[in-house]
Amino acid sequence: MSVPLRVGFDMDGVVADFARAFYDVEARLFGPGAHTRPGDPENEPADSAPEPEVRRSDAVWQAIRETPDFWMTLQPTEPDGVRRIHEMMLRHSWEVFFITQRPATAGQTVQRQTQHWLVAQGFDLPSVLVVPGSRGAAAGALSLDYHVDDSPTNCVDVRSESKARPILIVADGDQRAVTSARKLGIGSARTLSEGLAILEQATNARNQPKLLDRIAALVGWR
Ligand SMILES: [Mg+2]
Repeated sequence: MSVPLRVGFDMDGVVADFARAFYDVEARLFGPGAHTRPGDPENEPADSAPEPEVRRSDAVWQAIRETPDFWMTLQPTEPDGVRRIHEMMLRHSWEVFFITQRPATAGQTVQRQTQHWLVAQGFDLPSVLVVPGSRGAAAGALSLDYHVDDSPTNCVDVRSESKARPILIVADGDQRAVTSARKLGIGSARTLSEGLAILEQATNARNQPKLLDRIAALVGWR
């Protein structure tokens, strides 16, 4: 029996569609039309945007914080995404950790909201870690082997501060983002499904160093 692989998943932009929920709140407050960037709950609030956009973003965040159990209202990025992680966790005996830096809202703690949401999506007994600060330090402390995240900053952090191999979810397959990730030894995938396919290959090849090297080269881990 080999030691289980340890796999981390970021929540927003990986399994939960935070951007859509942000736009919904924005449309409710300001009407449909031009969007501000939703930013990342990991790195809230928006930084270098023009002043009116910052104020608008602040108002959306304020509404989010006042919404009871906001984190339980999100749609998944893929209908069966969480269920597939659960199925692969059982089949491959992975140890899975959901890691997030979501800010608190009215209602239950972020941890409990996130746990309820994951259970509703088909993952019983989820380990949810609400970790402020460095994603790399968290990946190191958890001895992760792989980590899936949609934030390039988090992936760089994971790559430099832990032994985990990061997989960056790159929306729309943005080729520039893929190329710069690869230069930094970060793998990338266009969707959660594609990320899971990479993890499946890597898991199956775990005891075949040459094959794993080939996969690593293809994915961009070296
Ligand atoms: Mg994220």
